[in-house]
Amino acid sequence: LDYKKLLNSHVESIPPYVPGKSIQVTSAEIGIPPENIIKLASNENPLGPSPAAIDAAKKSLANSNMYPLADAENLRKAIAENLSFSPENIFATGPGMDSLIDSLSKAVLSSGDEVVISTPTFSFYEISAKTYGATPVFVQRKENFDIDPDEIINSVGENTKIIFLCSPNNPTGNSISEKDIRHICKNSNCIVFLDEAYIEFSTKPSMVHLLKEFDNLIIGRTFSKVYGLAGLRIGYGIMSREIVKDLLKISLPFSISSVSESAAIAALSDFEYIEKSKKLVHEGIKQLTDGIHNNTKFKVYPTDGNFIAVNVYPYTSKQVSEHLLNNGVIIRNCESFRGSGRNLIRITIGTEEMNKKVIKLLSNFKQF
Ligand SMILES: *Cc1c(COP(=O)(O)O)cnc(C)c1O
Repeated sequence: LDYKKLLNSHVESIPPYVPGKSIQVTSAEIGIPPENIIKLASNENPLGPSPAAIDAAKKSLANSNMYPLADAENLRKAIAENLSFSPENIFATGPGMDSLIDSLSKAVLSSGDEVVISTPTFSFYEISAKTYGATPVFVQRKENFDIDPDEIINSVGENTKIIFLCSPNNPTGNSISEKDIRHICKNSNCIVFLDEAYIEFSTKPSMVHLLKEFDNLIIGRTFSKVYGLAGLRIGYGIMSREIVKDLLKISLPFSISSVSESAAIAALSDFEYIEKSKKLVHEGIKQLTDGIHNNTKFKVYPTDGNFIAVNVYPYTSKQVSEHLLNNGVIIRNCESFRGSGRNLIRITIGTEEMNKKVIKLLSNFKQF
């Protein structure tokens, strides 16, 4: 079989998604037992899942023989209540927010279409667009990683269907101002997808209120970060009813398992866990930023997320991330994020103990 002849021609050009390295693989590679390895590479919550979510998931297991309600109806209601929106404005989906990005791409993109992506940013926008044959147009962020809203608007052409924005941005940590988001929504005749995966950690407000004003805006959210449920793969989007209706038509039925749905509903109102998670991150940002600035020449960027971006010049991100890896700490070498250059690393905020180890390892890197 000449399989390649059957393959959609655009699939060849899709870059593989590069995940954070796992503890299991790292343990086998460097010969350190898994329990001695720290993973700060995927912006996971170091506190473990919300205890309320674990309880709810366990209880729900007893009904695993039944299909969940269609369209995750109960979760949509809980999210809607939380945000003071109607459930008809919520599309809840799995696996993760990645699935929302995929469904949106599936609904609107085809060969010859374009999407606008401001790099460096989350790499799945590019993968998803290319999966459906669309061409990404990349707009590089400024030196301080701010976007240039006019450059983004000017990159929108006749065939542009989606502008992907991320705020707080992964992997750089900075946010986009309300003024810039309004400017882009107002001046582009296409969907503006705003990824708020990290908004719960931010001291700046979410842009959900803009949904009442702009029907081309879609906001993406996830249970993988502040809610600590990355392994259960639950995401959601807030958008116009019209778009929700179409996404429901083309998305996979029952994409959120009953166990995941129960856990997510419980996590939404586990305020004690949410507050604890945010506090840990805010204290950790200060600890890591001060620790790195006081002990190295590296530049730590300000962040609104649960991670920090660090420029490790004159060393390369590869050298520094390998040094940490060999000492049992997995962080992110940002080389796989298009437009990041060769000196950017990303470190998830860990517990005080984990952060201490990171600071120590970065400090003694100077001697290499
Ligand atoms: C983690 C993350 C997501 C979503 O992750 P899921 O686990 O698929 O919900 C989306 N966007 C950004 C920028 C992220 O960092």
